[in-house]
Amino acid sequence: MNPTILLNASVLDPRAGTLLPDRSVVIRDGSIEEVTDTRVRAKDAVTIDLRGRTLMPGLIDSHVHATQASADFAELRSWSPYYSAARVSQVLRGMLLRGFTTVRDMGGADHGVARAVEEGLFDGPRVLFGGPIIAPTGGHGLTRICDGETELRRAIREQMALGAHHVKLTLSGGIISTMRVDSLGYSEQEIRAAVDEASLARRYVAGHAYTAEAVNRALRCGVRTIEHGNLIDESSVELFRQHEAFYVPTLATYFALTQQGAGHALSDESRRKLHDVIDAGLHALELADRAGLEIGYGTDLHGALHDRQLTEFSLRAQVQKPADILRAATVTGAEIAGMTGHIGEIVPGAFADLLVVDGNPLEDIALLTEPERRLLLIMRNGAVVKNIL
Ligand SMILES: [Zn+2]
Repeated sequence: MNPTILLNASVLDPRAGTLLPDRSVVIRDGSIEEVTDTRVRAKDAVTIDLRGRTLMPGLIDSHVHATQASADFAELRSWSPYYSAARVSQVLRGMLLRGFTTVRDMGGADHGVARAVEEGLFDGPRVLFGGPIIAPTGGHGLTRICDGETELRRAIREQMALGAHHVKLTLSGGIISTMRVDSLGYSEQEIRAAVDEASLARRYVAGHAYTAEAVNRALRCGVRTIEHGNLIDESSVELFRQHEAFYVPTLATYFALTQQGAGHALSDESRRKLHDVIDAGLHALELADRAGLEIGYGTDLHGALHDRQLTEFSLRAQVQKPADILRAATVTGAEIAGMTGHIGEIVPGAFADLLVVDGNPLEDIALLTEPERRLLLIMRNGAVVKNIL
């Protein structure tokens, strides 16, 4: 295929939090071949002039539920698999058009979804899947129930054999569950067994946890990424550092749920829990940011709320600088995925997952919340998904 050359681009370097001016970027066979400050020419190349625009890596959402195309879990279960696939394809297309070129699915998506995207059956971000969420009896959400070490190991072996990138365990109650938020899902022995089993497959455990107690316990047992974690405190910060773990807050979902027409019929109890975790979540993010923890960008949306996927940028902007939020949604997301150098930055050898932005998101992160107008070009694996340049 003929190479594409992007000329005169201001390239976002998410590690440094700066723009590199006047760069030429050569794209060949779906990957970035060269990034240079000299002008390149290649025979038969397609050239695109990006003067005055920002070129940035495609975004990574480290906590999505691509297959939860309805917020009504009973309705979801009633769908035919063929109908589900059609709905999931729409959810994923929406994510890609918001600028997400890779998503880490935290419960539901499987090898079939990932394969359909990779084969180009529809447009969507690359899907890193874990299979069903694993929970103990009485646990939270749309889950696979496992009790005891043997059942956990069996479930993880099965999910790994199907190509899972990670497994997610529920390690505390949740908002849309009958369990108390401060309840602890699994025994330490069970968590350690799951962590061991995942590590045998060279994969890892992600843990759904809210309170400092649940988070700290998970970190001590070797859980690599903490999902939500709204109620962490100073004691958690040290453990994140010691264990080189990642923190993946998901503020967008709580704010979306407080709004009308969310599609969830929330009980009064759930509503009360929701308000408790919202304020705490922003404080926790601020604490983690000041402490320099590794933070991923997560949203955790369901059903019709998927269109709020970019609100996480504005929510985080209340306590974080744009450069730090952008790092979460790019290079840190890549590290969580184990794909550093392949996604999340514009370097030779990486997939050509690229966004052209009208304006500079380092100065105004809110630009990214208006993708219809501000995302002028979206490319995944070198293929143009949208171009309104
Ligand atoms: Zn989730």
